[in-house]
Amino acid sequence: MLRPAFFAVLLTLPAGAQSARPADLIVTNARIYTVDDSRPVVTAMAIRDGRIAFTGSAREAIALKGTATRVLDAGGRTIIPGMVDAHAHLLGLGQSLRSVALYGAKSYDEVIARVVARAKGIPAGQWILGRGWDQNQWGDTRFPTNEALSRALPNNPVYLTRVDGHAGLANAAALRAANVTAATKDPSGGRIERTPSSEPTGVFIDNAKGLVEQSIPSETREEARAEIRAAIAESQRWGLVGLHDAGESRPVIDLMEEMAKAGEIPFRLYVMIGDDSAAVAHYLARGPQSGLYDNHLWIRTIKLYADGALGSRGAALLEPYTDDPANTGLLVSAPAHIQAVATRAPRAGFQVATHAIGDRGNRLVLDAYEAALKTVPVADHRFRVEHAQILNHDDIPRFAALGVIPSMQAVHQTSDMYWAGARLGQGRLLGAYAWRSLLETGIVVPNGSDFPVEAVNPLLSFHSAVARQDAENWPSGGWMSEQRMTRDEALKSMTIWPAFAGFQEATMGSLSPGKLADFVILDRDIMTVAERDILGTAVIATYIGGKPVYERAALP
Ligand SMILES: [Zn+2]
Repeated sequence: MLRPAFFAVLLTLPAGAQSARPADLIVTNARIYTVDDSRPVVTAMAIRDGRIAFTGSAREAIALKGTATRVLDAGGRTIIPGMVDAHAHLLGLGQSLRSVALYGAKSYDEVIARVVARAKGIPAGQWILGRGWDQNQWGDTRFPTNEALSRALPNNPVYLTRVDGHAGLANAAALRAANVTAATKDPSGGRIERTPSSEPTGVFIDNAKGLVEQSIPSETREEARAEIRAAIAESQRWGLVGLHDAGESRPVIDLMEEMAKAGEIPFRLYVMIGDDSAAVAHYLARGPQSGLYDNHLWIRTIKLYADGALGSRGAALLEPYTDDPANTGLLVSAPAHIQAVATRAPRAGFQVATHAIGDRGNRLVLDAYEAALKTVPVADHRFRVEHAQILNHDDIPRFAALGVIPSMQAVHQTSDMYWAGARLGQGRLLGAYAWRSLLETGIVVPNGSDFPVEAVNPLLSFHSAVARQDAENWPSGGWMSEQRMTRDEALKSMTIWPAFAGFQEATMGSLSPGKLADFVILDRDIMTVAERDILGTAVIATYIGGKPVYERAALP
């Protein structure tokens, strides 16, 4: 029986709502940032069949309550749309969860100690893998050499990937297993670090990493499946409902599809195809795939690489590195190749996304895209540049002019700011991590973390985007603070802008009626708390398709 107050509410509702089917879930008593300009902040919402049915007041939402409806009192907490990382590596995260974590190690000795601790119980001869070392965080910021690692671990091949994934360190046993000697030549687009007598030091840059990596036994399909599961669970814990996976091989994408088909991908997985000619030919022939298996998998993008990374001096620069005057970085693929793929892909309905960090890398990609789009004039191509990290002043307006999306990772700015000036000099910093300059040209800047290069927590990039300060609030006022985003922009950069970059804005990216009910409950209001309190925010729950996939503690 209806109570009078409830009856009165019904009378004031629009005609359609009264006859609508009841909601599955009604959330009340929340501060909901919808990222929907028509109703930006509401206190309640209703969800039906995995989608948003209504946003507005509790009084209106409760009219959609039926006998089986769950009503969730959010206790005044903040809700935002589910966050999406527009550039990350899902399998890489799964592998790094399994391998030795070297992130944050303050010295080479600490790196070695962490590997030694893991090596206990691992049989001799078995490979030990680690990830995350960063010599820029050590007292001695030169690249390490293998001797100390080899002495500490003489019986197992050890291979440790640098934090940016663009360099690897092998011990003597790994060098032997890979059969790399002083006679081994540098491959194109790669460099073996050497002693004065040409002996490999153990560090391999960019394409040279393959010399060691090809000797590492590949993981089994079941191991990869477990890693993907673990990486999704870890992502959900931090409020992510999906990511754009910046390049996987065909076997991995096939595995992801098999899992999605079986309902084992509770995530919005936008996976890019790694640059392998057979894989690219296969997927182009199949055609673009969007929202497969009930909006869990997208395969419609080809990932290319123009250059390396700044930390390992592999990013291609127009002028030499300030701290390495003979070096202008590395091109890891020929510009003609990028242009050829960017010509072929849109003909088949595919997007292209190219890694470019240095100003020369970025210019070459824009040139290649421009030439390709002259041949194949597709209006809505949404070509992307991944990172777009260091831009020459003249190239900033070209993104908007060509309709190219700069897919950036704000957290790289706060990780790199301590040494970026040494690499680039002050003049080039003006075009580095320059998201404000890009936004001013009228385009969107999807945000990401590039995990496992950085930590998974998407609020690290949210905080970097708005504060341009590290977790200790350094430097005061922010690094090159004229490039800061507003909080509204930063929220969009993790929700609706990634959706746009993935052709998903009709179904994702905001809490709008009809869209997928993907949202996050936070313990504080990231849109209003002091900047220094943003990183203390905890995710209370993550919902995908109206269902909780992560809960810190059971909610009523
Ligand atoms: Zn990446």
